[in-house]
Amino acid sequence: MTSFTVVQSSFSGSDPLRVLREVFGYDHFRGPQEAIVQHVIAGGSGLVLMPTGGGKSLCYQVPALCREGLAVVVSPLIALMDDQVQSMRQAGVRAAALHSGLAAEASSALWRSLLRDELDLLYVSPERLLNGGLLERLQERPLALFAIDEAHCVSQWGHDFRPEYLQLEALALRLPQVPRLALTATADPRTRSEIIERLALEQGRVFLASFDRPNIRYLLRPKLEAKEQLLAFLEEFRGEAGIVYARSRSRVDRFAALLQASGHDAVAYHAGMDAGQRSSALSRFRNDSGVVVVATIAFGMGIDKPDVRFVAHLDLPKSLEAYYQETGRGGRDGLPATAWMVHGPGDVTQLRRFIEDSDAEAAQKRIEHGKLDALLGFTETPGCRRQVLLAHLGETLAEPCGNCDRCLEPQVLEDRTVAAQKALSAVFRTGQRFGAAHLTDVLLGADTARVRSLGHQDLSVYGIGKELAREQWRTLLRQLTSQGWLEPVPDGRGGLRWGEEARVRALLRGELTLELPATPASQERRPAIAAAAGAEAEAEPELVAALKKWRREQAREQGVPPYVVFHDRTLVELAARRPAQLNDLAQVSGIGAAKLERYGEAVLAVIQGWGAQT
Ligand code: ADP
Ligand code: ZN
Repeated sequence: MTSFTVVQSSFSGSDPLRVLREVFGYDHFRGPQEAIVQHVIAGGSGLVLMPTGGGKSLCYQVPALCREGLAVVVSPLIALMDDQVQSMRQAGVRAAALHSGLAAEASSALWRSLLRDELDLLYVSPERLLNGGLLERLQERPLALFAIDEAHCVSQWGHDFRPEYLQLEALALRLPQVPRLALTATADPRTRSEIIERLALEQGRVFLASFDRPNIRYLLRPKLEAKEQLLAFLEEFRGEAGIVYARSRSRVDRFAALLQASGHDAVAYHAGMDAGQRSSALSRFRNDSGVVVVATIAFGMGIDKPDVRFVAHLDLPKSLEAYYQETGRGGRDGLPATAWMVHGPGDVTQLRRFIEDSDAEAAQKRIEHGKLDALLGFTETPGCRRQVLLAHLGETLAEPCGNCDRCLEPQVLEDRTVAAQKALSAVFRTGQRFGAAHLTDVLLGADTARVRSLGHQDLSVYGIGKELAREQWRTLLRQLTSQGWLEPVPDGRGGLRWGEEARVRALLRGELTLELPATPASQERRPAIAAAAGAEAEAEPELVAALKKWRREQAREQGVPPYVVFHDRTLVELAARRPAQLNDLAQVSGIGAAKLERYGEAVLAVIQGWGAQT
């Protein structure tokens, strides 16, 4: 790819909405995009916090075209850059990437275009930008903006710290007049303030979008027979791309083999494989349709494939943040996607043991146990999953979401009055100051040093709860806390005390009964078509398939991933509207001027050909 045979950029100074329509083929900006774009066009800097799939790229791509000069996009991964460059070129934008994977010839062609100001967008890694004189040469040219993608990589606190990102501090010092837009999907406040400090964005604006991903359906199941459960779940998704996460390498290998044996196009991915095997698995996932990757969490950043239809967890993730990140890789194109997980008390015991057996300091272990508790608050909530998830990310969702197992599947309630009475008595008799671990020891009659030193083996409640297992007591204590029967002692050390006393006493006297959700039955349902995919209902599946086939051929010829040609969403809309002329085609979301010119006739031919057959 050495030539830049794309249309001359002529958008400098033009209206962003016109650019959005003509280049990207979209009718409206989404959420805060418009405000961000206006701010940057006016020369402002800032930080954009938006969930995966929220549409961060347009926030700098549109101003890049509207503003005079070259826009420089800093990105940490070659695969991400190449993807973006291919997509941009398909849209008729003069884009290129400068990285170590570039052949000498391509690299000199790129330099020539740079010096002639013939590029709109340059993707580059931070080390390439700041070492070897590139920034000095760019300084002499007109620059539209710097976009710093995956900006959380600058944070030492965050999970993806990359030392080379620290060098980006130089941008503010050396080119303070060029707008800097940092973008990330990590919402954590501490990471946020570190980005602002390191990239000197104190004078800039912060744009915070909602982290809700309404098109993702959360379905949690009790772990019974994980193998059969997974196979049953995957039946709904034959031929679709997805990710299956498992905790260990050996489980990954085993489940990948299981899926292959059941006729799924599955590949394994984990850190124990060599680099060649890993990159071939990744490229199959990206370039072929309907590939399922079975992976450990090593499969992560840089997965920007838009049409991942499901993310399945065979084991609990490490934390609720990790779960949000991992499931967020589904449905980036806005079409329905399912986040499915099986979980059971065994996982919890194992994770607690990992924490206890690690070499971490006591304070760190407490943090880890706290993260696990937050995760359990999610897996055990009797209410809407999304409400718990968003609350954890600091957002409030006023109404239950209607798109999780709790909202979709009416629950079976069980009378748990007796167990609750025992737990509340144990809290009272031990003095309303102990946490769940010790209370459980007392209920189970455990012979621990702590029990003995406190003399709790002599209490009337000692050993009265042997009919339940340890994790069941922990679950019940959490449920009682979430419903206000118990409340945390305010000193923050994890102790529990009674909630409203009159109500608790009424329950103890048996004047009130308590019903709590039973373990939900394991059953799968066909995911209903979410509102986000209104078009899907009207799209003819055979026509979608024909369009996908055409797209696959195009992609293969050009050596690009299929979604670079058109997103699924665009194909679905085409199959619903079935346009007959170029004019109608231009109305379809995701078809800008360049794609209309390049593919318009061919797409109409596919639609006509399909119509002739039916
Ligand atoms: P992010 O980088 O935030 O994860 P992307 O920039 O890749 O997300 O955008 C996600 C998807 O949403 C892409 O398919 C993109 O084309 C689409 N998209 C973004 N903005 C709009 C918009 N205003 N209208 C329609 N689709 C959009
Ligand atoms: Zn819900």
